[in-house]
Amino acid sequence: MYDYIKTFIPRERILFHEPMNQHTTFRVGGEAECFITIQQEEELVKLIPYLNQIEQDYFILGNGSNLLVGDKGYRGIVLKFDGPMEQIRTDGTRITAKAGALLAKVAVAAKENGLTGLEFAAGIPGTIGGGAVMNAGAYDGEMKQVVETVRVIDREGEITTLDNDTMEFGYRTSIIKNRPYIVLEVVLRLAEGDPEQIGAKMEELAEQRRSKQPLEYASAGSTFKRPEGYYAGKLIMEAGMRGYRIGGAQVSNKHCGFIINTGRATAADIKEVIEEVQERVKERFHVSLEPEVVFLGDF
Ligand SMILES: Cc1cc2nc3c(=O)[nH]c(=O)nc-3n(C[C@H](O)[C@H](O)[C@H](O)COP(=O)(O)OP(=O)(O)OC[C@H]3O[C@@H](n4cnc5c(N)ncnc54)[C@H](O)[C@@H]3O)c2cc1C
Repeated sequence: MYDYIKTFIPRERILFHEPMNQHTTFRVGGEAECFITIQQEEELVKLIPYLNQIEQDYFILGNGSNLLVGDKGYRGIVLKFDGPMEQIRTDGTRITAKAGALLAKVAVAAKENGLTGLEFAAGIPGTIGGGAVMNAGAYDGEMKQVVETVRVIDREGEITTLDNDTMEFGYRTSIIKNRPYIVLEVVLRLAEGDPEQIGAKMEELAEQRRSKQPLEYASAGSTFKRPEGYYAGKLIMEAGMRGYRIGGAQVSNKHCGFIINTGRATAADIKEVIEEVQERVKERFHVSLEPEVVFLGDF
């Protein structure tokens, strides 16, 4: 298999036994059997149908900011965008960003070009591809409000453009959570604004984050989705789990909706804290907390 892949992807971009703790904001995770960086769409046009045909497992990695990889690693191929697949282009009120572009960088590009609407995303540490998949959002903003189209590739290697409606954006979800599409590029439609005001708004939101979120620790942001009618962090606090700890994983004292890696956590520690929190909140309030975090590999 690798001999064939090397015919269209340079060997220096194909790594073996890559430690995934280097690629996740939780800073945990064992090795990926193989880790390939993708720089051109054409590479995926060849790779994806082939991997599906031979039934080889693969996983698309964004910036690993909503991801828990097991300590025993992932027996498959991780694909990550790099280089040209991180480009950002502005044209009038439209921004076209390749899937690997960081949301924070796209937000800065919007500000610099006097485009408003993406301020909410400046502090979300993911890629625009991951953001489109998760319909990332914060402070009353979400990707759904700004995405015009999403260019995707399917299992057969066909490239299609999905419009906002077809994306079926919902709370932290989109059609891509249930369909094996890979996001290649996202086009945003923003509005004209004043760069100074845009910058001030971004700074105000960043300050809110710093004051409320445990940004000094490794985490994946909010661990759970907001259950309808409740706030996950409040339920967790009221269940008496503030500061609850297993090994190096802990329910943050600052924001109970965050599970943090205090330094030496294993993925198993984090998973156990997640499960314990779910159990106790269910017992106490009869509310099921659904993880927002994506699980990958063996724990
Ligand atoms: C400190 C902190 C604060 C955060 N704050 C917020 C917040 O305010 N709002 C919010 O919504 N989230 C927040 N998050 C979570 C996270 O940043 C978002 O969910 C983000 O959208 C994930 O993007 P990613 O590129 O890191 O995706 P990853 O974590 O790498 O992947 C997430 C999922 O998307 C899939 N995926 C990624 N890229 C692609 C692609 N190109 N094509 C197909 N599938 C893909 C992956 O396979 C995986 O299933 C926060 C995280 C941290 C650590």
